[in-house]
Amino acid sequence: MYDKNNIFAKILRKEIPCDKVYEDEFSLFFYDISPQAKIHILGIPKFTCSTFSDFIKNAENKNIISFFKSVQFVINKLNIEKDGYRIITNSGEDGGQEVPHFHVHILAGEKIGRLR
Ligand code: AMP
Repeated sequence: MYDKNNIFAKILRKEIPCDKVYEDEFSLFFYDISPQAKIHILGIPKFTCSTFSDFIKNAENKNIISFFKSVQFVINKLNIEKDGYRIITNSGEDGGQEVPHFHVHILAGEKIGRLR
């Protein structure tokens, strides 16, 4: 069950602000409020979905394709493809997800350490 009061839903409804990097019909990208790397951006689809699996199972293909094309658009915009980046999505309790609206983290700008 999707929680309409999660913080990213509020950002999408423009009830709270974000430091926007890119927005289009299907997606919004903004800087993480508590960056874990020199560059730390979050990307969210505008589609109501709580996890990656929820998004892939329930969104239309054009929506899914557009979202992931937008991830690459942001990578180009920030000029991080050559030096590299890491894309992460946390899902559910074991994945350590805090905000229950599907999002990707794009981490870059320095060497990102190993998870363990
Ligand atoms: P996750 O643990 O994958 O759910 O990540 C949630 C992320 O959202 C964390 O990295 C937080 O720092 C970030 N975050 C929480 N609130 C905000 C906000 N208002 N604006 C930007 N980033 C946020």
